[in-house]
Amino acid sequence: MTETREVIIIGSGPAGYTAAIYTSRANLKPMLFQGPQPGGQLTITTDVENFPGYPKGVLGPDMMEDLKAQAERFGTEIKFEEVIEVDFSTRPFVVKTDFDEFKTNAVIISTGASAKLLGLDSEARLMGNGVSACATCDGAFFQGKEVMIVGAGDSALEEAQYLTRFATKVTVVHRREELRASKIMADRARENPTIAWALNRTIQEIHAGDDGKVNAVTMLNTQDQSTANVATDGVFVSIGHKPNSDLFKGQLDMNDVGYLTVTPGRTQTNIPGVFACGDVTDHIYRQAVTAAGTGCMAAIDCERWLEGQGH
Ligand code: NDP
Repeated sequence: MTETREVIIIGSGPAGYTAAIYTSRANLKPMLFQGPQPGGQLTITTDVENFPGYPKGVLGPDMMEDLKAQAERFGTEIKFEEVIEVDFSTRPFVVKTDFDEFKTNAVIISTGASAKLLGLDSEARLMGNGVSACATCDGAFFQGKEVMIVGAGDSALEEAQYLTRFATKVTVVHRREELRASKIMADRARENPTIAWALNRTIQEIHAGDDGKVNAVTMLNTQDQSTANVATDGVFVSIGHKPNSDLFKGQLDMNDVGYLTVTPGRTQTNIPGVFACGDVTDHIYRQAVTAAGTGCMAAIDCERWLEGQGH
């Protein structure tokens, strides 16, 4: 056990690093735990073209390295460790990793959310090369191409609509007959002539051409178990997200699917001194820039709270 820190930040996506930049510039000497996926979801994408300040775009992993370097420049102590337990019932709070235990006066949670994936080896291998879990991030790369989107919830159908701005054909691949999406979203998608339907189908394998980019999938018909190879330029997976909040169950308020609850318009959780930002609190926008924005808010909320506590 070391001395009590002023603030510990859990998570290393745009929210966590932005909170680190702000709290370190406020001289709070933050310690940031990177967690199991250092850099977060942006490390599994390629070009990011919608983050302000990069007129030519930037590679997701490069942007996260830049954010990390910026946080380190002002004195953030970055730990390549995963937090396995927290205790918010006493003050100072306790944060445990596999290796150590830390005490801290305040905590900023920025553990993000993980896009659910199909679990295919080819999906992991081709992520960023035609496979994507974010239509808003990657749709524009498919101008004039044909893509598939897996899932039939509101997100998938909203993203299918969005993808029709670029792609000449968007095929919704869904494992059963009935759509999960709300009627209004389903009707809108059905009325869109650029959207095609592959119902009662799952994707068994994703294939790439010599250029290393997606060019086809093996599709399984779930009714007669037949398979077929179908050409496509891209596969978007939109089968839901899971907020990374298991660590806080029983201690922090969260909604029924696990998004942490914060005071509306602020970043305060139900425990004074514990703040949350980024995708672990946000099932609506889920963008790097909104995560960075709430990371800044959490840092300012945290700084003011600590000041109010006489720190
Ligand atoms: P959902 O859980 O609603 O939908 C997930 C979809 O993915 C379902 O069609 C599901 O199939 C499918 N799926 C899940 N796992 C697999 C798998 N392993 N293989 C193949 N398919 C799979 O998630 P969403 O992200 O769409 O929505 C989350 C919440 O956010 C919902 O409450 C939604 O209403 C809300 N939302 C609202 C919006 C709006 O109002 N504009 C926009 C976006 C989201 P199955 O149906 O068979 O289970």
